[in-house]
Amino acid sequence: MTPLTGHSGNAGARATAEAMHGFRGQLITADHADFDTARAVWNGAVDRRPRLIARCSGTADVAAAVRFARDHDLEIAVRGGGHNVGGTAACDDGIVIDLSAMRATSVDPAGRSARVQGGALWGDVDHATQAYGLATTGGIVSHTGVGGLTLGGGIGWLMRKYGLSVDNLLAAEVVTAEGGVVRASADEHPDLFWALRGGGGNFGVVTSFLFALHPVGPTVMAGPVFWAADDATDVLRFYRDVIAEAPDELGTVVRLGTVPPLPAIPEKLHWRPAIAVACCYAGAVEEGERAVAALRGFGTPLVDLISPSSYVGHQCAIDDTVPHGWHYYWKATNLAALTDDAIAVIADQAYAARSPRSYSAIFHLGGAVARVPHDATAYVGRDVGHDMSIDAVWLADESDERADAETAWARGFFERLRPHRAGVYVNFLDADDDTDRVREAYGDDTYRRLAQVKARYDPDNAFHLNKNIRPG
Ligand SMILES: Cc1cc2nc3c(=O)[nH]c(=O)nc-3n(C[C@H](O)[C@H](O)[C@H](O)COP(=O)(O)OP(=O)(O)OC[C@H]3O[C@@H](n4cnc5c(N)ncnc54)[C@H](O)[C@@H]3O)c2cc1C
Repeated sequence: MTPLTGHSGNAGARATAEAMHGFRGQLITADHADFDTARAVWNGAVDRRPRLIARCSGTADVAAAVRFARDHDLEIAVRGGGHNVGGTAACDDGIVIDLSAMRATSVDPAGRSARVQGGALWGDVDHATQAYGLATTGGIVSHTGVGGLTLGGGIGWLMRKYGLSVDNLLAAEVVTAEGGVVRASADEHPDLFWALRGGGGNFGVVTSFLFALHPVGPTVMAGPVFWAADDATDVLRFYRDVIAEAPDELGTVVRLGTVPPLPAIPEKLHWRPAIAVACCYAGAVEEGERAVAALRGFGTPLVDLISPSSYVGHQCAIDDTVPHGWHYYWKATNLAALTDDAIAVIADQAYAARSPRSYSAIFHLGGAVARVPHDATAYVGRDVGHDMSIDAVWLADESDERADAETAWARGFFERLRPHRAGVYVNFLDADDDTDRVREAYGDDTYRRLAQVKARYDPDNAFHLNKNIRPG
């Protein structure tokens, strides 16, 4: 076997590059100065040491890396934005096919579409598309990857108006498990195209995505309102009534935890237990003002930060509350509805975490998400009201005891929600005790159909470091 030692420019790396038949990207091994940075993922609790990181410069490099990995029987991890909480973008002893140098977005303003490379982050896409006053549904944190988020479904502020990220996907260029390149769309490899829209990274490496765009902003009515944690039950009940009547343009996310220490928030409120409802109105600012009026008028807010904001700014607003390198553990569930009983559990459990950084988030679905036929894509969960994620957070230098306490909080909260659970969003699954929940995420019928597509495109399960669908 070709030696995999050495770093870019040295003999070992050159030998590996030759074995990769013209690979032009960067090869990073353990003796490279950038190895520790290159192997780190968003979740600092994940510590894996790949044998080789192949930082690709384009589709040809990805194909070469896949063929090399298959020839040398290496475990393959695929890295988009590196944000999956389970750390599936990293592996021990195998190869990381690293797309982080493939972040270009090219916009066709007349055709209202954008071609986005497989390693782009949502901040890259928003930056490029907003130059034309256009956007597509992406995540609510700008440093999240387009790749993993889209392939699992893609929920965000715009989804109730314009659908999920997968509902806006028009085509994808895919490097297959054999190292070939195919295009998937409604007309080309439609089975693969169906599976890519929710089935995750199981079917190949997506080197570029073609998304539909819509007029958004550049100024939108957006931001959070915070109330004291003691008001959580009343706020959630009122919120439930507000969203029942909300127009599709209004996207909302509830966040329960402490007030984050962001510069926009008065310092005296920082770290205070609170409930926030964050909004983004995907329409005219004046209409947005009317749509959020009831919410802003409810009770006695600690602070109201809803204002006409730049869409790009809003997409980055909470980036610093979930930085790279902190330690994270998630438990997630969908909720059919915010019933009084579910609200009682949420209000009781949300503030029991010991760390002021731990929080939970509840995304409101419905609208355009719910109108797409159930079998049109591999994303399930279109009929639920909310996707919820319970996010335990601690710092690298905090004790194991703290880590255990935060993890136990998330697990306990999740258990208490058992009677209210209605499936789970695959992109919010963690590793370890969530491995068995992939079937829960898809349900039997969709899982079976995905397994058939997997058998066609990746019969050896070469892409298995993910939320894995076994070939069937
Ligand atoms: C702070 C934060 C905020 C988030 N907010 C949202 C949100 O608003 N909406 C939402 O829907 N989700 C959200 N998520 C969840 C997010 O969708 C997942 O974490 C997703 O896996 C991130 O994708 P990534 O490319 O950054 O991750 P990675 O860890 O790089 O990738 C995860 C997996 O996806 C696959 N993959 C990634 N890129 C490719 C590609 N180009 N081709 C083939 N396979 C690929 C691989 O199997 C990889 O293991 C958030 C996550 C975090 C950490």
